[in-house]
Amino acid sequence: MESKEVVEIIQAGLAWANWTENQREAFIIAGEAVRKQIPQRVIKIEGISSQACPTCKSSVNGKYCSFCGQKLRYRST
Ligand SMILES: [Zn+2]
Repeated sequence: MESKEVVEIIQAGLAWANWTENQREAFIIAGEAVRKQIPQRVIKIEGISSQACPTCKSSVNGKYCSFCGQKLRYRST
């Protein structure tokens, strides 16, 4: 199953019932963890970094952001 599909199912699940606050929080944490497995293109922050994490804006150069765990992809050039 694709991570994107997992995120969609979790989001749909959030709306299905009157979850407790704890249950709702667990869904959101799980959704964010899976979302970080979907590669996001690095962004350029003017004057600071040409390769920054789109999630937490930290400077990155690895396959994953070492600060928040976001999976990253880079321009093919
Ligand atoms: Zn990050």
